[in-house]
Amino acid sequence: MALLGMTLVSCQTTHEIIDKPIIFDAERKQLTLDYLSDRYGLEQQEPTITPKMIVLHWTVIPTFDESFEYFKGPILASSRGDINSAGQLNVSSQFMVDRDGTIYRLLPETTMARHVIGLNHCAIGIENIGGTKDLPLTPAQLKSNIFLVNYLTEKYDIDYLIGHYEYTKFEDHPLWLEVDDSYRTEKSDPGEDFMKSVRQATKNLNFKSIPE
Ligand SMILES: [Zn+2]
Repeated sequence: MALLGMTLVSCQTTHEIIDKPIIFDAERKQLTLDYLSDRYGLEQQEPTITPKMIVLHWTVIPTFDESFEYFKGPILASSRGDINSAGQLNVSSQFMVDRDGTIYRLLPETTMARHVIGLNHCAIGIENIGGTKDLPLTPAQLKSNIFLVNYLTEKYDIDYLIGHYEYTKFEDHPLWLEVDDSYRTEKSDPGEDFMKSVRQATKNLNFKSIPE
């Protein structure tokens, strides 16, 4: 038990969270409020979420700088024809983990980010740089994700930990609020092996099982 205690302490002291905010100006705020209203029927004064879930991702984009640039502005890139019919709000995530494990916070943890259809109103997103065959996610990223899952679960009432590829399993769940049954994208991130490893290391947090 003493050993476990020490491991946890060292984990918490070696992971720093660096604030590196994307642009969240009046325009992005309005687009986020519109998204909450249009996609979920939630009329809110502030673009905040009630965290119930953590969603892990990979960016495919190979570097932090390029990934940050992609998320930085308020408006969705014109190349995203797959999702722009569902609103002009740019994609983003509350956290981004670089390949060396450095953790960046791009938004306040309870500000809504567009990273997972149906569930953004309750989901905190963690993006990992890379994820391609040439750039598989690293052991340092795994450690940082485990740290973040522990950190967030201690702070918020988190029921679920999922990989992005699992999000459609929530279609019939009360947390699912997307109004358009045809608005879906197919995802494989952050890979089954990565999810297995994070789940193994966070078993003690007793997350609820994912709907079948
Ligand atoms: Zn994703």
